[in-house]
Formats: sequence, structure tokens, C-alpha cells
Amino acid sequence: MAGLGEFALIARYFQRPGRALGPGVVLGVGDDCALVQPTPGMQWAVSSDMLVSGRHFFPDVDPRTLGHKALAVNLSDLAACGARPRAFTLALALPEARPEWLEPFSEGLFALADAHGCALIGGDTTRGPLNICITVMGEVVPGQALLRSGARAGDDIYVSGTLGDAALALQCLQGKAQLAPAALAKARQRMEQPTPRVALGLALRGTATAAADVSDGLLGDLGHILAQSGVGATINADSAISLLAARADITGARGQFDSEVPYAQALECVLAGGDDYELVFTAPPSQATAVQAAALSSGTPVTRIGHIHAGSGLLLVNANGDRLQGNWKSFDHFA
Ligand code: ADP
Ligand code: MG
Repeated sequence: MAGLGEFALIARYFQRPGRALGPGVVLGVGDDCALVQPTPGMQWAVSSDMLVSGRHFFPDVDPRTLGHKALAVNLSDLAACGARPRAFTLALALPEARPEWLEPFSEGLFALADAHGCALIGGDTTRGPLNICITVMGEVVPGQALLRSGARAGDDIYVSGTLGDAALALQCLQGKAQLAPAALAKARQRMEQPTPRVALGLALRGTATAAADVSDGLLGDLGHILAQSGVGATINADSAISLLAARADITGARGQFDSEVPYAQALECVLAGGDDYELVFTAPPSQATAVQAAALSSGTPVTRIGHIHAGSGLLLVNANGDRLQGNWKSFDHFA
């Protein structure tokens, strides 16, 4: 890279000499390879996620929140597997080496990395259209990883935290919906700085039968669980829409939708929005107390939104059990 120079850039922003690398990391940034040493008897869980400018984020987004989000979406995959974060690599294409961008980007990245004890151990840096690809590595006890294939008829379906606010923020920024400034700021934070549910994922090992993180929309990501488990599901739309944190901001005093964001649009954000990086997971009713204990110990609210049944497909009902029809599409880059 011109300007700062590729190696000066790496040394200044991505190498942190003298810092402990954490368990499992023998050698970090600076050599041809990093060296990692799994804890004896543990498995490594590995996942990559790429963020492309103009597709996953606005080119002028605050670089600090972008550094956070690039790692958060990766940690979210470890969370969905019930894995403990250990290390990550960062492949970065940058149009130019600007300290005003690199400094806050690396600060946002490392703040989240340090909060999870996840060490940056290597990567690649090249000039090109802004593109951030992270690969995370975590540890999981053999046989305890939460998979998409474990849901069974009779299981309850739960979602962590709040859902749909990221999509609603995007719709507001695109002029398709309106929220008061304070409500928009909250929703926008959900879009730009998602919280990976790592502690919940760890706490659900041995309790949840299946899990996935909601990156492309609830129905789509739950759909992967259904397909890979060979089961069907019924979702209560009224429970689902209660997951929208902005609901309080878009309903009137009596909880009726009477604002610029109609019920159908709010429901679409919850069912198909994505980008909230919550966990959707299943557990048998006999584990309901254990699910609440996991929620409590990890400080993460969870809400039951439906149940799994034999067969296939996804049924959406209201509180009266009446079937709702709709055409909610999850995000698909190639659709
Ligand atoms: P190589 O030429 O062997 O691929 P590089 O010269 O690209 O290695 O990188 C030098 C060192 O800096 C390597 O240890 C590599 O892992 C690390 N590195 C390069 N880019 C990044 C980055 N964006 N973040 C962290 N480490 C990086
Ligand atoms: Mg290289």
C-alpha cells in the first residue's frame, strides 16, 4: 500500500507487541503463519464472514462501529455453535491507508476482541475496494456444539434479545419508514453495533437442541434449522412482533400500531429483516427452566415464539391461532 506502507500499517494498527495472546495462541501477527494450540480434547469451531462496502454497510459508516460489526458478525457464528472465541484473522482490502479511518476501525475491532478474549493472530492487507473478511476460531467440547440439525418435534422455539430493529433502522435511512430521532438512534445502534450472544450460546450447551444466529432474517435462518432437522414449525406472530424493541416507540398509548410504521411493516422487519445477530434456538419443554437459567446467567433475555412439529414448513399464526398469510423473504445475495 502507498502512503503509510503496508507493513507500517500492519505494525501500527494490527500488531500489539507485548500483549498476551490468550489461551491456544502460540504465535500471532508477524510471521508467515500464526501458530495455534488447541486445548487438549477440545474441537475448534471455525467460521468466516465478509463485509463488502455498499452491500453490507454504507461506505461512509463510522469506522469504529464498522470495526466492531466486522468482528461481531463472526463472533455471532461462534455463539450460535456454543463455542468459546479464541482467535481471528483479518483480511482487509482498503482503497487508501488513512490513519483517520484505520485508527478508529482498529479501536472498534480490538474493543470487542478484548471483551471476548479473542486474539488477532494474522491476516492480509491489500489495496482495493473496501472489503473486510474475518475468520474466527473458537473452542467447543466435542459433541457439545449447537448444530442446526438437532431440533425435534415438540421442542419450543426461542429467540434472544430483540429482533427487527436493525432492518427498521435501515428502512428509516432509506426513507421507507419513520421513527422519532431517539428511537431511530437506538435502532441504528442495533444495525451498526450488534451484540454477539456468545455468553448465551455457551450457557445453552447441553440445553438447546439446535441453534442458528439470525443474520438473514428469522424465517430464513429458522428455515435452515427446520430443513436440516427435518421438522416443521409454528410461529406465533404476536410473540414474534413483541421482539421488536422499537415497538414501544411506534405504538400509541394503548399499544395499538397507529404510527408511521404499520403493523405489517413491523412484522416484516421481525420475520425477514435480519442483521440483528440474535440467536434462534430450540429446546424441549422439559428444559424450559434450564433455558431461563441460561438466559439469566448470560444476562440475555429470551422469548418463546413457537414450537417445532413433525413434517415440514413454517406456519405463522396470531394469538387466536388463526393462520397468517404473507410473502416474507429472507435476505439472499443472489435472489
Ligand atoms: P505474507 O506475505 O506471508 O502473506 P504479509 O506480508 O501479507 O504475509 O503479512 C505479514 C504479517 O502480517 C503476517 O503475519 C500476516 O498474518 C500479518 N497481517 C497482514 N495483514 C494483517 C491484518 N490486516 N491484520 C492482522 N495481521 C495482518
Ligand atoms: Mg500478504
